[in-house]
Amino acid sequence: MHPDLFHTTPPDVAQLFAQVIIPLALPRTYTYAVPTEWINQIQVGCRVEVVLGKSKRYAGLVKQLSTEAPPYPTKPIENILDEEPILFPIQLQLWEWISQYYLCTEGDVMAAALPAHFKLSSETQLIFNEAFGDEFSMLDNNEFLLAEALLLRKQLSITEVQQILDLTHVYPVVKRLIDKQVCQVWETLTERYKAKLETMISLHPQFHSEAKLAELMNEWSRAPKQLDILLSYLHLAKTEGSVSQVSLLKKSGGTAASLNGLLEKKILIAEKRAVDRINTLPLELDLNIDLSEAQSVALQQLQEQLTQKPVCLLHGVTGSGKTQLFIRLMEQYFTAGKQVLYLLPEIALTAQMIRRLQAHFGGHIAIYHSKFSDNERVELWHKVRKGTVRIVLGARSALFLPFHDLGLIVVDEEHDPSFKQQEPAPRYHARDAAIYYGQLTGARVVLGSATPSLESYFHATRGKFGLVALLERFGGIQLPEIEFVNTRFLPSRGKVMISPRLREAMEKAIAAKKQVILFQNRRGYTPYLTCGTCGYIPQCQQCDVTLTFHKQSNKLQCHYCGTSYPKLVACPACGTVNWKDSNFGTEKIEEYLTKELADMRVARMDMDTIRGKHAHDQLIRQFEQGKVDVLVGTQMVVKGLDFEQVSLVGILDADSMLHFADFRVHERAFQLMEQVSGRAGRKSEQGKVLIQTAYPQHPVLQWVKQHDYVAFFEQEIGSRQQYHYPPFTRIIHIMVRHKDRMLTEQAADVLADLLRKDLGDRVMGPSVPVISRVRNQYRMELQIKLPLNQQFIQQAKQLIRNAQGLLQAETRFRSVIITPDVDPV
Ligand code: ADP
Ligand code: ZN
Repeated sequence: MHPDLFHTTPPDVAQLFAQVIIPLALPRTYTYAVPTEWINQIQVGCRVEVVLGKSKRYAGLVKQLSTEAPPYPTKPIENILDEEPILFPIQLQLWEWISQYYLCTEGDVMAAALPAHFKLSSETQLIFNEAFGDEFSMLDNNEFLLAEALLLRKQLSITEVQQILDLTHVYPVVKRLIDKQVCQVWETLTERYKAKLETMISLHPQFHSEAKLAELMNEWSRAPKQLDILLSYLHLAKTEGSVSQVSLLKKSGGTAASLNGLLEKKILIAEKRAVDRINTLPLELDLNIDLSEAQSVALQQLQEQLTQKPVCLLHGVTGSGKTQLFIRLMEQYFTAGKQVLYLLPEIALTAQMIRRLQAHFGGHIAIYHSKFSDNERVELWHKVRKGTVRIVLGARSALFLPFHDLGLIVVDEEHDPSFKQQEPAPRYHARDAAIYYGQLTGARVVLGSATPSLESYFHATRGKFGLVALLERFGGIQLPEIEFVNTRFLPSRGKVMISPRLREAMEKAIAAKKQVILFQNRRGYTPYLTCGTCGYIPQCQQCDVTLTFHKQSNKLQCHYCGTSYPKLVACPACGTVNWKDSNFGTEKIEEYLTKELADMRVARMDMDTIRGKHAHDQLIRQFEQGKVDVLVGTQMVVKGLDFEQVSLVGILDADSMLHFADFRVHERAFQLMEQVSGRAGRKSEQGKVLIQTAYPQHPVLQWVKQHDYVAFFEQEIGSRQQYHYPPFTRIIHIMVRHKDRMLTEQAADVLADLLRKDLGDRVMGPSVPVISRVRNQYRMELQIKLPLNQQFIQQAKQLIRNAQGLLQAETRFRSVIITPDVDPV
């Protein structure tokens, strides 16, 4: 480290300057002078209040300290907000890498990395926390004034707070009120968080052992009412994870008086909690799962390879029990005193998955999830920092938690494109960032998938990563049998929703008391509504997108900007009323099944049906408990779900996955189909998959039929090499956006010319993207393909930054938005 850069203050310095990251897309960090009285207090990783420009105030983060004054005048730091750093220098190194690799600013990374409560700015809105009540006696004068104002007005901006307190420096007071949970920060973008309190019931810890519990229940045959409540409690705890007083009384049919008896005897505990708080430990008793022979071998190989290679790929077919292997590995690092991070795609972070890990690690495992409130996230943040929490299960942003002794990172379902953040910056890939973070921290990284990304498998075959294959399902069950239903020869060619063959198979499965999953990657009722007379297709007024008809809401919806329009009666082009449906979405399938196969219980899982906070988990639970026979869904049904009773999977429109223009089309199609198929026949007997297609000979379908990932890989990697696509090259996409089409095109042309000077024909475009306008912004895109040469790539990235800077320095292009996307997925 440069001698002038310190993490803590060196003794006896006369002047000190702090480089501060501000959570905005500012192209640089800013340097502030540290007032003398704080020289001995300030540390890297602390938040400080700073003024930017004339009057904007931010909570920035100290990145570095230096005794050397910068060559420009500095403003002083206004306040230090944290007594101790909220993160470690190593996290800042990760931020810096992400900002450099993904062409964004450290402010962008900061905005993504920190829970909202850590980010204060003049625009911040404070919301009163109703759950706190009005007991303000422990607050000091300023805190009390502010709390009173919040109690009355419910919401205040920082500017209003300044007026109320008649102070310029309000951040310390605000911070204390947030810490004391009197108020919370509301980011305009996030859903407003209302802490709703509910009485939750749990079992007193003294009865957590099975023996104690059995003893208790034996004693109790004389109090049948209380026994009923206790049994209901145990049942709910096992199935739901957490038990509210309301649900307990409802299930047991008991009275509040009987419940109170149990509470008085300290058998059960009642506690008021915000309902969406981290759920309590469920009662799971099978802790010691033995590994199968194949699993043990794979585990051993993983352990061995990890001593040689920092990154290891576990290619385990669907249902092979990868989770069990991860659990063993995690335990190994945990026992050695290390911290462990288990990353999953957000949507795969279901109660089902959480229960499995909790069953093993109990209270040691914590969950970091966007569904949790900011208070909970901040709480967990500090616990990870202090090391009191050592195992975290989370979605991609959990990577930013302040681990200080990370030993292992597991990236489960590593192929999943949702590990890449799309909007806004940082457009980082959590898997790749995790691999870099592993290098930084010395933590080992394990990637797991039944259908690895081409990149990861390529690195594994080339020896850059370790590779372990687990190619049999747990319990010796065969992978499902794949059968094609050729839609070409069906009377309604191309539009068939449920072919007679599929219908017959469904009926057979249901008759055998099994369950069925139907996959269609389109939500809504009809994705294209066409006028049968003139061919007109309704389009969004703000986007270049055809509208999807949603029958339930009776609206036409744009899936890009979310605008909905009333259903059209007559065609606006020719005036006739002659609408034709073409193609079908999940809503239409559900309707069809409900009408045609009335004795089947059907549920639908897509973005429209899982809007609520717990809807997704509820639906999974209903299906798990056999309350639903047929689950119709989009991608969501694909992600890592483990259902015992599913014997049949139907892929309704395979062709829609095979025909679009992207170099990853085959990879995505193979992954999706293999993963959906993987939901069939997981536990007891071989399952069956019916794929409806007009092209059964398509090579991707043939590989899916053979469940032959390796053959798929060999073929696909060959064509990637031939056509110079990743992993043999690096791609950077640049999107240029503006409300004015001409200006967008001009800016894209200028940008392309600037880049071509140095990069030549590696720059492709500008071209009009498939969706040329979204939310009234026109779009143009450039694609840059770079050879695998680190130095060259670095230079190219610098060129892009420079070109972007040059362009935006021109007045007419100032409002044009330019977003580079490195390694787009
Ligand atoms: P994958 O993630 O590889 O698709 P899972 O980890 O979901 O597979 O395992 C598939 C099913 O097999 C799960 O229900 C899991 O509980 C069960 N299973 C896996 N390994 C074992 C084992 N060693 N003992 C008992 N059950 C197991
Ligand atoms: Zn739109």
